[in-house]
Amino acid sequence: MPAAQWREQLRAFLADHAGRPPKGKAQRLAWSRAFQGDLVDAGLAAPGWPVEAGGMALDLADQIAYHREMVRARVPKHPCALSFIVAPTLIKHGTQEQKDRFLRPLLRADEFWCQGFSEPGAGSDLTALSTRAQRVLAKGGDGEEFVVSGQKLWTTQADLADWMFALVRTGGSGAEGISYLLIPMDAPGITVRPLRDLTGGTHFAEVFFDEVRVPVANLVGEQDRGWSIARTSLGHERATAFLADEYRYRRVVDELLALARATGAADDPVVRQSLARIEAWVRVLASNSRRALDAVLAGREPGAAASVNRLVRAEFDQILHSAALRVLGPDALLGLREPTAPEGARWTYGYLRTLASTIGAGTAEIQRNTIAEKVLGLPSHLSGSLAPEAC
Ligand SMILES: Cc1cc2nc3c(=O)[nH]c(=O)nc-3n(C[C@H](O)[C@H](O)[C@H](O)COP(=O)(O)OP(=O)(O)OC[C@H]3O[C@@H](n4cnc5c(N)ncnc54)[C@H](O)[C@@H]3O)c2cc1C
Repeated sequence: MPAAQWREQLRAFLADHAGRPPKGKAQRLAWSRAFQGDLVDAGLAAPGWPVEAGGMALDLADQIAYHREMVRARVPKHPCALSFIVAPTLIKHGTQEQKDRFLRPLLRADEFWCQGFSEPGAGSDLTALSTRAQRVLAKGGDGEEFVVSGQKLWTTQADLADWMFALVRTGGSGAEGISYLLIPMDAPGITVRPLRDLTGGTHFAEVFFDEVRVPVANLVGEQDRGWSIARTSLGHERATAFLADEYRYRRVVDELLALARATGAADDPVVRQSLARIEAWVRVLASNSRRALDAVLAGREPGAAASVNRLVRAEFDQILHSAALRVLGPDALLGLREPTAPEGARWTYGYLRTLASTIGAGTAEIQRNTIAEKVLGLPSHLSGSLAPEAC
């Protein structure tokens, strides 16, 4: 689609859909689902996806412009972020039937997905996972199916999800013998037990599988080759979406600065110090994103800047919210249910939620290992003590 055309259509669409989210969790969810549905029906979703997968196939510069338009208009985020982890895998490794069946409902948020990777005995060391899927003749003798038994842990939105994309053990040990399976969450034998976190909410759950039968047609890619499949990402799609985050962060920092001025907290030298730190970080994030972008636009890999950005963003989320609590002073103790809490307690809630941002999707320590080994070329942390000449 030519740039002028999509931009005009998107702006008209956003003008038509302007408005603030309703109060109440269920109402907000229904609102953002309806927004996604309309966006997909208008052909204005998934700017980086191929057209045959329901996307817009925009070039990189246009994808970035697209994300900026969306951030500026403060549109609701897609209500199931995990969908965008499974989607690139389906686009790259899925059968045509899987693409036809899953991609459109996923994009429209008609169906929610959860990620079944972590287990009680497998987190950072994910290749130790032990949830077993045994391939057997289907009941009734018609074809084959997998019988899944085991447990997943920390499964975000498991209570809302229609489907789980799971890594399961079909053979061997370690990375060998792991398969990538799509499991319907309403299958007999699945039990979801929500887990309460620091915010008081139940954002994740533990999921138990007791001889759950899954058709072989739900296997993505080859059996036993799921580990490499799980590492798929859709080219630079994520990098360009991150660039839009830079605008979101700028806006959030400006909102915090405005709050500090309005409450008079900005006159406190200790608060000013932490605000100055936030300002420095948000600028580092912006210039790092720009470095990654320049590389991508020049046809190179985003490289070190992109790896470092992920870690910096996770830690930035935390220091941003710590600074917000300083700005609020004693009011930071007022939680979501307290009607007098400043700005609906968003900063206190955000503080509690972002404590997990350096754990989920790979801990900060593991990210530092990756940067040390893949970016700086240091010896593997698994290879024992460092030789003196390597230091
Ligand atoms: C909010 C949130 C949402 C999540 N959502 C999901 C989800 O939807 N689906 C899913 O599958 N998982 C999910 N997870 C789980 C997450 O992926 C794991 O918590 C994470 O990978 C760490 O695994 P672990 O908790 O088992 O910790 P462990 O791996 O046991 O690590 C414990 C500590 O040891 C450190 N450590 C471990 N190995 C090393 C090493 N080699 N070098 C240095 N330090 C090391 C870690 O950094 C950590 O501090 C979620 C987690 C959180 C917090």
